[in-house]
Amino acid sequence: MNKRQREQLEARLKALPKSEQDRLFRQAAAQRTDDQKRRRSERKRYEDLDAPRPGSSKRKVDPVREYALRLLAAELAAGRHEDAGGASPVPDSTQTGRVLFMGKRRCLVRPDDGGEDFECRLGADLAGRQQAELCVGDRVSFVRATDERHDADEVVQVLPRKTVLTRRDPRTGEARAIVANVDAVVIVVSVVSPPLHPRLIDRYLIAIEDSWVEVPGSHADDPDPAQAIIAVNKIDLLDDLTPEERERELAKLEPYRAIGLPIVECAAQTGRGMDELRALLAGRIVAFVGHSGVGKSSITNALDERLGARTAQVGAAANRGRHTTTSSQLYEITPDSGETFWVIDTPGIRYFALEELTPAQLRDSMPELRRLRRGCQFNDCTHTHEPGCAVREAVERGELHPARYDTYIRLLEEIARGPRPPDERIRPLPDEA
Ligand code: GDP
Ligand code: ZN
Repeated sequence: MNKRQREQLEARLKALPKSEQDRLFRQAAAQRTDDQKRRRSERKRYEDLDAPRPGSSKRKVDPVREYALRLLAAELAAGRHEDAGGASPVPDSTQTGRVLFMGKRRCLVRPDDGGEDFECRLGADLAGRQQAELCVGDRVSFVRATDERHDADEVVQVLPRKTVLTRRDPRTGEARAIVANVDAVVIVVSVVSPPLHPRLIDRYLIAIEDSWVEVPGSHADDPDPAQAIIAVNKIDLLDDLTPEERERELAKLEPYRAIGLPIVECAAQTGRGMDELRALLAGRIVAFVGHSGVGKSSITNALDERLGARTAQVGAAANRGRHTTTSSQLYEITPDSGETFWVIDTPGIRYFALEELTPAQLRDSMPELRRLRRGCQFNDCTHTHEPGCAVREAVERGELHPARYDTYIRLLEEIARGPRPPDERIRPLPDEA
């Protein structure tokens, strides 16, 4: 659960009668003991249960309290405690909607009830924390000026997120949300010009893997991040290569096929692969990431057969407020053939980098390793030299692609070496840095 959810739950917990609080804590303690027993039989160490997920910024909290809050969340979701008072998460006079566009201290909101998009000011409390707390794709609650008690349209609260992509502020080191609630992230790479860069894919994958948001009832061992999709653009340029060169270029994708990532070979210029991409994106909120020059704009333009309409729509929004073209925006694509989907375009995401990770964070950010490590003899196995390492055994048995293991080892070495040379980073725009 995120900080906001936790605060809400803490408030609800406090508002409950003492007897109910006691009951929750008793149930929580019993549930935790059960979990510990189960874990122990899975050869997990006792203290591991309460350890925060390495790499996550989630605070360490009293473990029984954590269980109690989750129980309470489940009970609230089931409609229990309805008569118990306390602040309901969304008071009656507020409505909900989605942020399409972020400006300074204001944003463009599309109401859930189908009303027109409107510009909304951020509540004083939110405005102060805007960079970290609110971003395009967020679902928010808001009040309208038409409501007699409010004199301005104002965002009151950010609703719990499904996913969030963050980038560390190079100055403060603090994580900043770039986009929220994307269902999928398309990593755009090109062949030949620029050539395929597996290292970039690896970095993006790690950031995407880390996009999950802890919600009540979920567990760090079973996160639910945005889906990663690889679009290999400029596939037409392979025609100019010799068969050997072509094979060498495409072989770089093997490890990603091996872990089951959808890979779409496409050419924005000829329209190849666009139907396949549209089908993968149907009904979802997506973001495109990738080095400049790989063809992100060309692809989004090619996906949208009614580009004229989209440009006009963004133009209208920009005229209404103080938005600039470098701001993030969410726009709708309704192709002639296929279902609507939503694209979040932000300068921030084009340049979001794999920031300095710890080895534990790295281990945690690769889903194959996360899955396999349960079989390692040591709980803190680094999968490099330890006996009984399930990861290395999987490589030997051919169940984990050697290239993915190499990626892990290489990134681990990079971490040990310290900051990377600038040309290996995905650099932020000057105004983002
Ligand atoms: P972005 O920086 O990722 O948004 O990339 P752009 O969409 O601006 O494209 C960069 C360059 O690649 C442009 O000159 C495009 O014309 C070219 N390009 C895009 N898609 C293709 C393609 O499918 N095949 C070829 N050969 N060139 C492409
Ligand atoms: Zn291991």
